[in-house]
Amino acid sequence: MDSIFSDAQKRLTEVFKYFELTDDVRVKLKHPKLSLSVSIPVRMDDGSLKVFKGYRVQFDDTRGPTKGGIRYHPDVTLDEVTSLSFWMTIKCAVMNLPFGGAKGGVVVHPKELSRLELERLSRNYIREIADIIGPMRDIPAPDVYTNATIMGWMADEYSQIKRQQLPGVITGKPVHLNGSLGRVAATGRGALYVLQEWVQRIKKEPKNMTLAVQGFGNAGYHFARLAHDEGFNIVAVADSRGAIFSEQGLEPDKVMEHKQQHKDLKTMMYCDGSVCDLQRYKKISSEEMLKLDVDVLVLAALENQIHEDNADDLQAKLILEIANGPVTFNAEAILDKKGVFVLPDVLVNAGGVTVSHFEWVQNRVGLYWEEETVNKRLKEKMSKEANALFDIAEEKKISLRTAAYLQGVKRIAGAIGEKGTREYFQNE
Ligand code: NAD
Repeated sequence: MDSIFSDAQKRLTEVFKYFELTDDVRVKLKHPKLSLSVSIPVRMDDGSLKVFKGYRVQFDDTRGPTKGGIRYHPDVTLDEVTSLSFWMTIKCAVMNLPFGGAKGGVVVHPKELSRLELERLSRNYIREIADIIGPMRDIPAPDVYTNATIMGWMADEYSQIKRQQLPGVITGKPVHLNGSLGRVAATGRGALYVLQEWVQRIKKEPKNMTLAVQGFGNAGYHFARLAHDEGFNIVAVADSRGAIFSEQGLEPDKVMEHKQQHKDLKTMMYCDGSVCDLQRYKKISSEEMLKLDVDVLVLAALENQIHEDNADDLQAKLILEIANGPVTFNAEAILDKKGVFVLPDVLVNAGGVTVSHFEWVQNRVGLYWEEETVNKRLKEKMSKEANALFDIAEEKKISLRTAAYLQGVKRIAGAIGEKGTREYFQNE
């Protein structure tokens, strides 16, 4: 299989066919601006010293300070973090936010650490990357297996290093530590708004639509909960241990409540129970869940879940990409032939970074918004940018992903162009 980054870059080649780009833009979008690899020493509870590998990649900052989450996962690689920073660059431009793209990651199985070990690791990671982040330079946020508590520790560590209160260095913080109301559910909520806009366009009724959701963490759970409240029928959910299915539909809140009861008592930070602990639903494998005959397959776990080997087996008519990069480039060609429509990640999961932008604005102004205001502004932003892409795709007869990349790259190219390109300087 190709590296994730070279797979991600193939989408650009597709976009370059649709409009003339200067060499400057092509070159800039091929290379990350800054890649930092760090070794993070952590004193473990048993007294031993363990060193964890960490990364921070800033892909492009032409449109503003870079923005992107921090992932804790045993499979984190520089290639993955680079791809995620590239997608963040496109995503921030698609949403017209004043940010470039970045991403961070630490190679760790966080569920194996105690709370104190996790706190030391998080603070030490910030110490290692402190020189390249900042409220006007690069602003991290949560991603897979990181959460508000961890963001609070990280923001506090940064403020201690700089000897001033700088909450705007990190978003997704706890509400009591200058976080924004509505941030925790923002990614799932934003994805729901995009789905609702699309369902309205194709004139379908939520109550007649079945959904299967892969990934029951921050993004997947809140999406499932809110979609259920809006009348969609969630018939299956999966986490890393397996999946459950019910033809009559599941209640996401009840599933989460049960998962929480079984969480690991050692760390308490993570929900270690599995959806599979629920006795009253039919257990199926994660692979089986992907092949269910549902109206919408929601991918909210990790990248590369739909690939050349399983794309042909899918029966869903629509894919909602909440995870970053869950469908590979080659798989998408297969889905396209089968007539499966994809609502792409760079639009669908942008609710998280949009409310992160709101949090950064609130931190800088020092004035905090009601949750209702946050949700209303999120809805306005998601609906506006989603409908703009639906129109571009329809008008140019291209996929929604190509339309999104077209929109994002055009905005980035505009900013690069304004700084002056070879063409500009040679035409005096
Ligand atoms: P999370 O750690 O809260 O949840 C991840 C979930 O995926 C867990 O339920 C885990 O059990 C499940 N999972 C892992 N491997 C799986 C597998 N093979 N099959 C089924 N389930 C599996 O992470 P999250 O924050 O919800 O992020 C999920 C995805 O959404 C990631 O791709 C992330 O980059 C993307 N995303 C998250 C945010 C955000 O604000 N949290 C924003 C934008 C994009």
